[in-house]
Amino acid sequence: MPMKLQFLGAAQNVTGSRHLLHVNGAKLLVDCGLYQERQFQERNWKPFTVDPKSIDAVCLTHAHLDHCGLLPKLVKDGFRGKIYCTAATAEIARIILLDSAKIQEEDARYKAKRHKKEGRKGRYPEQPLYTAADAEACFPHFAPVRYKKPVQVASGVEAAFYDAGHVLGSSIIKIKATEDGTQRTVLFSGDIGRPRRPIVHDPELIAEADYILVESTYGDRVHQGSQDTRKAIAEVVNATKEAGGKIIVPSFALERAQELLYYINELLLAKAIAPLKVFLDSPMAARITKVFQKHRELYDEEMIDHVENNESPFKFAGLKMVGTSDESKALNHMKGTIMIIAGSGMCTGGRVKHHLANNISDPRNTIMFVGYQAVGTLGRRILNGEKEVRILGQKRRIKARVAKISGFSAHADRDELLKWLRGVERTPRKVFVVHGESESATRFGDYLRQETGWQVAVPAYRDEIVLD
Ligand SMILES: [Zn+2]
Repeated sequence: MPMKLQFLGAAQNVTGSRHLLHVNGAKLLVDCGLYQERQFQERNWKPFTVDPKSIDAVCLTHAHLDHCGLLPKLVKDGFRGKIYCTAATAEIARIILLDSAKIQEEDARYKAKRHKKEGRKGRYPEQPLYTAADAEACFPHFAPVRYKKPVQVASGVEAAFYDAGHVLGSSIIKIKATEDGTQRTVLFSGDIGRPRRPIVHDPELIAEADYILVESTYGDRVHQGSQDTRKAIAEVVNATKEAGGKIIVPSFALERAQELLYYINELLLAKAIAPLKVFLDSPMAARITKVFQKHRELYDEEMIDHVENNESPFKFAGLKMVGTSDESKALNHMKGTIMIIAGSGMCTGGRVKHHLANNISDPRNTIMFVGYQAVGTLGRRILNGEKEVRILGQKRRIKARVAKISGFSAHADRDELLKWLRGVERTPRKVFVVHGESESATRFGDYLRQETGWQVAVPAYRDEIVLD
């Protein structure tokens, strides 16, 4: 039987990554992500299209929810195999999955209460997709692997993980299988990072691949000749200090928060900004930062230099990890210029909403965005220059300065993706463009065909393709 690939998520959309490879009579799932786009969320609730009991192993590229967020449900529904990933991915996934379970439990309680009050039923069950206990139950399945050391994941099937340079521990996965005397290599890009990012390595080039699944989040654009990110942050810090205000930074807990600390540390070392009190007010980001501190083997050269010279970005004078919510509330009464980094990254929940409520109407303050703000989120409305927003049930005038720092993207753009693909030495038999909105994936597919003459497909949800 030839190998077969099923596209069960992130096919002409971005989230819900899930690819099932049938090989040598085994079923291998690469990623088991949560759908986060509103129009696809109902797929999270449906039974898996393939019985989880029949899946032999999972290979996980990285710890973002759109790649790992449905693992607890997979285990709850009967999966009994191993989940192969790097140790850092396993450690970060634990933190992220527990947080996700907590949010789902809270949402379910809130929904049940609201629906009861309004005497109606919602679109989805008033239950969490999975609980913290379900998340805990999936952790024993994690089997840590090292980069570049192939592991046997099924009979005659080997998986090797390579640094994808996207977030700490992120991987490109190469699966090599021999069936009826024929050897085939299938390469899963996962999410590909950008060259010259702080802390992590550049994405590794892979020479060997018969079939490639490549992400295309930014496959239809080229990142602008980036504004000097350090300089832009320094300008915000210095101007806000001059005004005597506070800086509120909504941030994702994984990678973005640590990269921001990295830049601030460098600005302090270069004396481009005056000593500054920085509060990382996100217990999840603080826990993830601990994983960063533990895995020095994943640092790039500059980061190693900083740590060896006692200049760790996670320990500079003035940096404080905020624990309890009382400590968080106490930040309201602090005088002088401070920076508060808090989640959630798009201001849809979390402690940042309280800080925004308390600070957004004071013209001395700055709200500094360091990440993408999706349409419909509070972050996007603030960034769009609205005069007034509703936060925690109250209308607030926006009088604070709003700044956007670019250059933080964790995804390769069109040209960087092509450069990564050109790392393969022989023409691949076929390339599948996944993990991009329909338009982005299609345009990247066209571009790739035109530039390389390769066979390129943009599979749709539930497509099945034989890899001969
Ligand atoms: Zn990712």
